[in-house]
Amino acid sequence: MIWNEAMETMPRPDIEALQSQRLRELVAYLHERVPFYTKSMDAAGVVPADVRGLEDLPRLPFTKKSDLRDNYPFGLFAVPLSEVSRTHASSGTTGKPTVVGYTQNDIDIWAEVVARCFALSGAQPGEMFQNAYGYGLFTGGLGMHYGAEKLGLTVIPVSGGNTARQIMLLQDFGPQIMACTPSYALTLADALLEQGIDPDDLAVRVFILGAEPWTEAMRQELEAKLKVHAVNIYGLSEIIGPGVSNECVEAKDGAHVFEDHFLVEVLDPVTGTAVPDGEIGELVFTTLTKKAMPLLRYRTGDLASLNREKCICGRTHARMSRIVGRTDDMLIIRGVNVFPSQIEAALLGQPHVSPHYRINVTRADHLDQIEVQVEVTERFFREVGADVFAGHAETAVSETNELKQTIHHTLREALGLNVQVSLLAPGEAPRSEGGKLKRVFDNRVLK
Ligand code: ADP
Ligand code: ZN
Repeated sequence: MIWNEAMETMPRPDIEALQSQRLRELVAYLHERVPFYTKSMDAAGVVPADVRGLEDLPRLPFTKKSDLRDNYPFGLFAVPLSEVSRTHASSGTTGKPTVVGYTQNDIDIWAEVVARCFALSGAQPGEMFQNAYGYGLFTGGLGMHYGAEKLGLTVIPVSGGNTARQIMLLQDFGPQIMACTPSYALTLADALLEQGIDPDDLAVRVFILGAEPWTEAMRQELEAKLKVHAVNIYGLSEIIGPGVSNECVEAKDGAHVFEDHFLVEVLDPVTGTAVPDGEIGELVFTTLTKKAMPLLRYRTGDLASLNREKCICGRTHARMSRIVGRTDDMLIIRGVNVFPSQIEAALLGQPHVSPHYRINVTRADHLDQIEVQVEVTERFFREVGADVFAGHAETAVSETNELKQTIHHTLREALGLNVQVSLLAPGEAPRSEGGKLKRVFDNRVLK
């Protein structure tokens, strides 16, 4: 089902005409209402009346995360606070969080785009939805909630975490659709297995997963374990929250960006100029219809590529690839660029290892060291014996050494780097307890 056929299957020339018109209106709106944009446009020599449309996009100024911080908390709002019906804030690992605001109009748009996400994922009105995204300042929970209601789903607003309760609800309420982070889906899958629950006995058919990076290999793993379709949803608070784009379950080949509301560019992160379709660059979004805090050319730091070909699902909206990394999570190890997603993809193809891992980066004697710690499977663990993992290995050292060698070799092929490999016993690597999971620990710099 396509939720908004007229918008989602609009021919490209019409999409672009609509975007041009909305962009013109946006530029005038921001210049008039937000001092930050008056200044940045004036400095760039942009006169709103001269902006004709998409062809002028490259000369419009960017917005960066630091601009949100500098205008904390409400400095980028384009309407008086009395017209803002909701605020959200991102976690903000350091210092103050990033604050965003929504008018009632914006909340309605959000529900509209998230309803599209559910339809893209294969949900049908009348079905039931278990929402294991966190409710609160984080945009995940409430964003999914309103979109689900709009589509006509029955929502179970359980929020993140509490695995025992999640499983009870999956069994007793029988939702067909579930949403959470991919790392938490893995936690759930393992818990089901441990309790001897066969996913075939559950009604759940689709997992909508996002809020953190994951790989194709992880999709295979989760779909096999949970016996569901796992589809990718992408979003960020600054642009709206979850619902900027979502994969269609038919193709599972890139997430359709809702181009009538969000204008997407993929740029060379260094020069800021557009890269051709199919090439990786930084995603930059302009919100075309929001009123409380619209953003012009927001630099997400997320790296992906774009595909504007028509999709087998019938939609014309451009598809973005998975996020292959972030401009700020790329590890530079002895001069070699490494993204954690490359490591995940390489590890998940290996026999005897589980999809739980941790990446440590250190520097000793001015030399970067990267260590990948990966858990072995329960079966391997039983076969070689726990002694090996407790550090007093007498037996089976050759098996573990062989496994380490194989992984080392695979990672060297994939990354062009020598990586130190350690094996962990089952349960030793970090797990998601409901939200986003941190797997990379770069100890070279204080963060
Ligand atoms: P915070 O994590 O700071 O609370 P957000 O929830 O807005 O704020 O996080 C948005 C970021 O999460 C995106 O910029 C992107 O890096 C990441 N993200 C969201 N969805 C996905 C996804 N499907 N794949 C990869 N990364 C994602
Ligand atoms: Zn599609």
